[in-house]
Amino acid sequence: MRYSLFNLFRQAFEGHRGWPAAWRDPAPQPAYDVIVIGGGGHGLATAYYLAKVHGITRVAVLEKSYIGSGNAGRNTTIIRSNYLLPGNEPFYEFSMKLWEGLEQDLNYNAMVSQRGVLNLYHSDGQRDAAARRGNAMRMHGVDAELLDVDAVRRMAPFLDFDTARFPIRGGLLQRRGGTARHDAVVWGYARAASDLGVDIIQNCEVTGFVREAGRVIGVETTRGEIRAAKVGMAVAGSTSRIARMAGLRLPIESHVLQAFVTEAIKPLIPGVVTFGAGHFYISQSDKGSLVFGGDLDGYNSYTQRGNLPAVEHVLEEGMALMPVIGRVRMLRSWGGLMDMSMDGSPIIDQSGIPGLYLDAGWCYGGFKATPASGWCFAHLLARDTSHEVARAYRLDRFATGHLIDEKGQGAQPNLH
Ligand SMILES: Cc1cc2nc3c(=O)[nH]c(=O)nc-3n(C[C@H](O)[C@H](O)[C@H](O)COP(=O)(O)OP(=O)(O)OC[C@H]3O[C@@H](n4cnc5c(N)ncnc54)[C@H](O)[C@@H]3O)c2cc1C
Repeated sequence: MRYSLFNLFRQAFEGHRGWPAAWRDPAPQPAYDVIVIGGGGHGLATAYYLAKVHGITRVAVLEKSYIGSGNAGRNTTIIRSNYLLPGNEPFYEFSMKLWEGLEQDLNYNAMVSQRGVLNLYHSDGQRDAAARRGNAMRMHGVDAELLDVDAVRRMAPFLDFDTARFPIRGGLLQRRGGTARHDAVVWGYARAASDLGVDIIQNCEVTGFVREAGRVIGVETTRGEIRAAKVGMAVAGSTSRIARMAGLRLPIESHVLQAFVTEAIKPLIPGVVTFGAGHFYISQSDKGSLVFGGDLDGYNSYTQRGNLPAVEHVLEEGMALMPVIGRVRMLRSWGGLMDMSMDGSPIIDQSGIPGLYLDAGWCYGGFKATPASGWCFAHLLARDTSHEVARAYRLDRFATGHLIDEKGQGAQPNLH
């Protein structure tokens, strides 16, 4: 049933008892054309575009827990396309354009809100870097505005401009950036994919690969063996573990990243604001809570929870940027498992093992990539060639030296 005003009124008169389940709950079939491992945003978007764009509907998404239980449901929901490098910018702008039409496409309210992303700068050197990034964005047809301190003050008067250790000099603004409701993105893709015939199979953990003459021809799971002509991995922080089952060692490490949410307060923060003198970013949810995050915890882990030193560090950064935050009570914090690639950019490519495909290395920026990642991974799975905006995301760049080092900090983005 489509979500529409008409159906809302009709259901209201019938006590809302007629809404069907948003997606089917099928038992796994013995074989599919494509299996996607991982029921996060990327896996579900891939399945949806396989069915919608390429007409491949014999697709299963296998999720070891419930869909959205990984990073898709744990992130701070920021979407933007303010990238610098030619390998990245067209991809993230493609994603932004998909976000802009996503709710109509999926017939689902994903609360996409283009409330603006403002990256602050605090020195002349940072201003020059921001100007360069803004120019690169505009050369790719992407909106970017370099603001001076007065313009930032008008937008965000609650920031500490003058007395802070790192006085604010201005900011780079992308007005089309913003936030989207992360769970709703998962549910929207799941519902739309299921409608097109995709089987979403929850509580189904992949425990190994079925191989024949070197080729991957299926997976072993906690619900039995399932065969497929092609198997795609979209398991984010579990990438290295699943890859190991296939005998692959990837340039990816798993790290914990935490997020934080406060009690709800009246509207204060108009968009997303990021601190330029540290790693801290903040926005306000539609319920009124402040949602923020910062650095990785800094050690390898497969647990979805972090530790207190990172909590203290993030809160200190928040206090340095906007001391007003000190009066707000924090309600919750949680951790997610980041698949940190060694140049900070993702991989959407064949794995080198026939039949096995990779979508990985999203670091702490993969939520905004969800639509484009799904689109491009579906393209690769359907056609065995890279989509034009994802051509740089090759696995062999780590061997050939064609790294996409967006942050300019070398081969260890996990260190700060
Ligand atoms: C605290 C935090 C804040 C973040 N903030 C942002 C942000 O503001 N903006 C942004 O762009 N990005 C952000 N990110 C990053 C973003 O969330 C991720 O890069 C992105 O969600 C990863 O893709 P996914 O949604 O498919 O991953 P996941 O949702 O993690 O999906 C992977 C799925 O694979 C499943 N899985 C694992 N092993 C198996 C197995 N053996 N069998 C079957 N299934 C398996 C997992 O259960 C999981 O559901 C943040 C991440 C965190 C943790």
